[in-house]
Amino acid sequence: MNLKLTIIILAIASVLHVSYVSANELPDLGDVSATVMSPLQEQAIAEQILREVAVSDDVLNDVEVTDYLQALGARLVANGPEKQQKFNFFVVQDRSINAFAMPGGVIGVHTGLMLGANSESELASVLGHEIGHVTQRHLARMLASQKTDTLKNIAGIALALLMARANPQLASGAFTTVSAIGVQSQLDYTREHEREADRIGLQILDSGGFDVRGMPSFFNTLQRGSRFAEGSTPSFLRTHPLTTERIADVTNRVEQMPYRQVTDSIEFHLVRAKLRATYTTPEAAIGVFEQNIREHRYSNEAAEHYGLAVALLRKGAFPQLEKELAWLKKNAPQHAMIESLSARMEVARNNPQSAAAKYASALARYPDNRALIYGYAEHFLAIKQPDNAIRLVLSKQARYVDDAYFYDLLAKAYTMQNKVLLSHQAQGEAYYRKYDLARAIEQMDLAAKANDGDFYQISIVEARLKQLRQMQGDDKKPKS
Ligand SMILES: [Zn+2]
Repeated sequence: MNLKLTIIILAIASVLHVSYVSANELPDLGDVSATVMSPLQEQAIAEQILREVAVSDDVLNDVEVTDYLQALGARLVANGPEKQQKFNFFVVQDRSINAFAMPGGVIGVHTGLMLGANSESELASVLGHEIGHVTQRHLARMLASQKTDTLKNIAGIALALLMARANPQLASGAFTTVSAIGVQSQLDYTREHEREADRIGLQILDSGGFDVRGMPSFFNTLQRGSRFAEGSTPSFLRTHPLTTERIADVTNRVEQMPYRQVTDSIEFHLVRAKLRATYTTPEAAIGVFEQNIREHRYSNEAAEHYGLAVALLRKGAFPQLEKELAWLKKNAPQHAMIESLSARMEVARNNPQSAAAKYASALARYPDNRALIYGYAEHFLAIKQPDNAIRLVLSKQARYVDDAYFYDLLAKAYTMQNKVLLSHQAQGEAYYRKYDLARAIEQMDLAAKANDGDFYQISIVEARLKQLRQMQGDDKKPKS
């Protein structure tokens, strides 16, 4: 066995081990002979997965891409059969065309799918299909019928699969085929599941204002493969078998639905351009964008210039970047992603005053844009202005109460100010939002023991510590 593969297997084994240990902290999931999981059981598994997702290197940590996907997902969910179900969408850095749904509404989307889809409606059709699997509880039912140990470790197995898929070297490695796929094959959807998810996906597409032909056209994309995707068979086809009946069924349904011409959103184009700009080396990306612009090979010219600008920023080629930004300002629709790029250029060029001015004016136009808030706060921290970072984050936090990174930023700022209680408190709140209750309690305990808080601050921390410990106690008791 070669060294590289050994290291990867060790990495996977340690993922499994970590997951196994944390799986032991999971509540007893109750009667495994049941055919349906309770919403609480599904939520417990979802939180277990999200805790791993929060620390996984394979999950794309780009708030602009994630916010786009979450907005698209939310729009689809709002048009689905279960509007109350909680959903979490995240992006996996993986060139294969795939998406997957976990119990509790956790949906992962590969970058390969975002790039491989030929239209926003195609991408939406896959999301709608996955949402259908969740609302019909397909995986939850399959998991509920598995043996106890599988059920208990399922989040770990799911995560190991996620890691295995995200590792290109593993895609051809023996480990994937023997072990992970063995587990996976027990969890492949049936034809009945596929038909049901397609039916719901089409309804969602239609009421969400997308082009229902996106679904059959995505089937074509899958069969053709994509120049952005790796591997001969898109992994989506392994878990969601595409049969002739399935294609015929969807095609028939679509023919009975009204025709609708839908234009892709500018975000769809910009996000894809950003992914392409970070896909390879800056030099290679620059070459591709320049050639596409020269030969007029694009579906959206502004996105091509934006992608070129992102690659130029990566390279630090500022004069040319200025030219591209000027082009965008003149020719592209106004957009937060372009303003954010322009501000990041000033940061990279070490122009703190211009950076601050650009962030401030962009936020005046897009007050709730997370990439701008993150970028501006990070900028304040970089130039050692923790007071400004704290003021900014606190003023924006109400709209994003579940955002862990806002608390990470606060913790850094308070540390800079040597405020021990507030720093640990913020770190505790960040861990709580990454579903890591043990570390949240640890930090809140340190906050309670810090001796630089006033009476009011100490009372809040102590009440919160008590509440978190209560939650931990509740977690250890069986849920049913
Ligand atoms: Zn499916």
